Amino acid sequence: MKQTQYDVLVIGAGPAGSVMARDVARLGHTVLLIEKRARIGYPVRCGEASTTLDQLENTYGPIAPECIETVLNGLFVYGPGGINLDVTRPNVGVMLNREKFDPWLAHLAEADGAEVVVNARAESVSEVENGFRTVSIVMPTGTEKIKAKMIVAADGIESRIGRLLGIKCLHRPGTTCTGVDIQVEGILTKPDYLTFWQGHDFINDGYIWSFPKVKSNVTNFGAGFLVSSKQDSDIQTVALEWLKKLYPEAKVKSVVGGLVPVSGNLKDCVRERFLMIGDAAHHTNPLTGGGIASAMRGGQIGAAIIHEGFMAGDLSEKFLRRFETTCMKRFGNEHKKIMKFRRFLLGQNRPSQIALYKLIKAYLEGGQRIKVFLKKPCTTVSFILKFLRFR
Ligand SMILES: Cc1cc2nc3c(=O)[nH]c(=O)nc-3n(C[C@H](O)[C@H](O)[C@H](O)COP(=O)(O)OP(=O)(O)OC[C@H]3O[C@@H](n4cnc5c(N)ncnc54)[C@H](O)[C@@H]3O)c2cc1C
Repeated sequence: MKQTQYDVLVIGAGPAGSVMARDVARLGHTVLLIEKRARIGYPVRCGEASTTLDQLENTYGPIAPECIETVLNGLFVYGPGGINLDVTRPNVGVMLNREKFDPWLAHLAEADGAEVVVNARAESVSEVENGFRTVSIVMPTGTEKIKAKMIVAADGIESRIGRLLGIKCLHRPGTTCTGVDIQVEGILTKPDYLTFWQGHDFINDGYIWSFPKVKSNVTNFGAGFLVSSKQDSDIQTVALEWLKKLYPEAKVKSVVGGLVPVSGNLKDCVRERFLMIGDAAHHTNPLTGGGIASAMRGGQIGAAIIHEGFMAGDLSEKFLRRFETTCMKRFGNEHKKIMKFRRFLLGQNRPSQIALYKLIKAYLEGGQRIKVFLKKPCTTVSFILKFLRFR
């Protein structure tokens, strides 16, 4: 490390940590960003689908073209009972190449003044003493103790750091998803679409995906389901079985797995001179499990609030609570609604799920909503009432 003390120390150089480090550095603070792995962004444990390029670029500035694999123009969902959803939406999202995207984000942070150090694992964080917390960082050369006025845990789903400070960020069955991504040679499905298989005929408490990385001529094929106590098969076996069933000729290049928090935002994720962002704070979309965009958004919101705290001379727990409320307003409340929809959809028996898929199909593909409503008033009203009553 170049210094022994910094204004902000960010733990973890995923999308959340790098955006946070870049933004606080831009705002004039000294920043250290540490990453335990030797190579930022590798190995990739992700399906790599994200939001629209416009949204990414309007928020974070131009994205380097080599980080974009595919511009997506729609979604195809194989649903139960042969009810499939074919939704054309030009520029609905992009496929990223995270092996390039994550280091590129860290490089932006570095270019704006943050110090970035790899092979550096945060092991512990002290209580506040004289306006600083001290982080013990394990490196190949030994352990270093670095002081910072503000610590940010962007250490992903396996976050230990929050737990060390007494934050309940453990993952529980039913609100955590276990997923496996299998990189397959060639493009298996429509090259500018995300393709999903969901419902009782496939995986009901999750879904199967096929996401095309066109430039690399690779498909991210994968599956994820909610962790439950009654599972009798692991997700890797399930994903490989589905790959064999759907694409018997597919050539597997690599298999990676991981957990995704789908519980909605952690309500308690700050302490004095400490906050958590991204997967560590459960910022992921609870229906899709997508967390890249919300991790970056959390990083950006957190950086602005930390800057306000520095300006006000107040990095107390009470002051930093505004981070939790801002994240709730900006995406957490939306995630709560989405989570209710997920529980509702997965809770339907097969006939009812088929009826729901038919209704969604009519609304998505049927043009004017009022016409669809006039055609199917009873089914629409009955599902709306069931949903409103659903707890
Ligand atoms: C199988 C699978 C498929 C997925 N598919 C998608 C998808 O298609 N689209 C999408 O948007 N999201 C997807 N996700 C979720 C997405 O990967 C995460 O939401 C996203 O990476 C969160 O970013 P983050 O910066 O919070 O955490 P991460 O990207 O996990 O970064 C955390 C970083 O912290 C480092 N770290 C951890 N502990 C320490 C420590 N003690 N000291 C130093 N460094 C540390 C880690 O090495 C890591 O680099 C998927 C997840 C899985 C598991």
